[in-house]
Amino acid sequence: MRLILFGPPGAGKGTQADFIKEKYGVEHISTGDVLREAIKNETEVGLYAKSFMEKGELVPDEVVTEIIRQKISELGEQGFMLDGFPRTLEQARSLDGILTDAGIGIDAVISLEVSDEEVVQRITKRQKIEGRRDDTEDVIRNRLRVYKDQTSPLKGFYEEIGVLHAVAGGGLISDIAERIDGVLKQLK
Ligand code: AMP
Repeated sequence: MRLILFGPPGAGKGTQADFIKEKYGVEHISTGDVLREAIKNETEVGLYAKSFMEKGELVPDEVVTEIIRQKISELGEQGFMLDGFPRTLEQARSLDGILTDAGIGIDAVISLEVSDEEVVQRITKRQKIEGRRDDTEDVIRNRLRVYKDQTSPLKGFYEEIGVLHAVAGGGLISDIAERIDGVLKQLK
């Protein structure tokens, strides 16, 4: 199974990815996690990405696309779910090329639908628990703006190819997981 988890920052993509990974055994690929790890290890990519991330801007397409290209090639036949990628139309088109070259495709895009209000509440809570540097109020606002301008149009892209599944992302974590499960069961 190959999936994309889609939604604004704070929609709960990471949390739901853990459930999906456990139940379906697919690899979780989060570009945000890869980039944070690169920053921690002070790699060339990390040093480059840091300034964009701290401002809540997107890291340039070529950098994140290369990360995904490598991960997907390492995985071979294994299933995966992408979390936080693609975030621009350019990235979505590149992903399409990578998958076509590998002779594989995306089975479903799960779009977690969450209100702005809930997003801000959740990220503020997450900041207290995880202490992420890009979870401050100004940066959150910018990340939401970037999401609306650059990322949300991707929904149309995936709707057109018939793989988009909108899932209500509010309420209890277990209820959201069940809704997603309902979609995934139909795919099998
Ligand atoms: P996330 O953990 O997915 O919220 O990502 C945290 C930050 O990493 C984002 O605000 C971006 O600065 C950067 N980032 C993660 N994924 C991407 C991507 N696909 N394209 C560009 N920047 C990204």
